[in-house]
Parts: sequence; structure tokens; C-alpha cells
Amino acid sequence: MAQLKLSCDACGKCCHFEKWGHQLWVTELELRYLVARSGARTPMDEGVCPYLDDQGKCTARESRSLGCRAYFCTAPAGEVEALFERFFTRLTRLASDQEIELNYDELLSGLGQFLGQKGAR
Ligand code: SF4
Ligand code: SF4
Repeated sequence: MAQLKLSCDACGKCCHFEKWGHQLWVTELELRYLVARSGARTPMDEGVCPYLDDQGKCTARESRSLGCRAYFCTAPAGEVEALFERFFTRLTRLASDQEIELNYDELLSGLGQFLGQKGAR
């Protein structure tokens, strides 16, 4: 990140998806990791990540998805795409090795569905 001169002060504003006009997409592999490491959080407040606390801080820093890690509100257009693609390719390979469908979905609907299926098992 330092080479790209990107910065983020972790204000949490972009985790208010609706207000920020932002969508976060995740793979099933990332959802599994997020839930395994940071616990199951059912999306309650439409348009807000359930892993955001009341102080606007992420409670899933260590297990957050690639989309969370590669999003920088101040990044000039095109600055992080190559970085995202590089790691997304690795993620795709990892999912394939683990025989997990990619099932790329928007975080809130993907999380709701994943937890619903998990509960149904
Ligand atoms: S990317 Fe921007 S809006 Fe999102 S947490 Fe960082 S500084 Fe805040
Ligand atoms: S996992 Fe953390 S960084 Fe990602 S959207 Fe949720 S609160 Fe924000």
C-alpha cells in the first residue's frame, strides 16, 4: 500500500453501503472465513455492514474480505484494480483447490443466504 501511496483512516463511512453509494462483493470462500473468524452476524440494518461497531470501527479487521482491503475512497481511478485482480486470481485458485464454488455476491445478501443455509444444515 505504501508504494501506491494509498491511505485509509478507518473512519468506517464506506461500510454504510447505502449512504455511501457503495456495494461490497465477496466470494463464498471469504464469507466462510469471515464467519469462522469473526462470528456469524446477521445483517439487521439494511445497507450497513453488520461487522461495523457503534464507534464506526470494523470488528472483523483480520478476516475482512479482499473488497474491504482493496477499497480506498481517495484512490485515483484505476489505482488499485491491478492489485485487486492479482489477489482475486489467487482467491479464485484457492476456492478451486478447496472445491468451493466462487458464488460471488453482494455482502449483505450473500451473508444472509450463507447463514440461512448454514442454519438449515
Ligand atoms: S476507505 Fe475512506 S471512507 Fe472507507 S474507511 Fe477508509 S477513509 Fe473511511
Ligand atoms: S468487514 Fe469491516 S471493513 Fe469490511 S465492510 Fe464490514 S465493517 Fe467495513
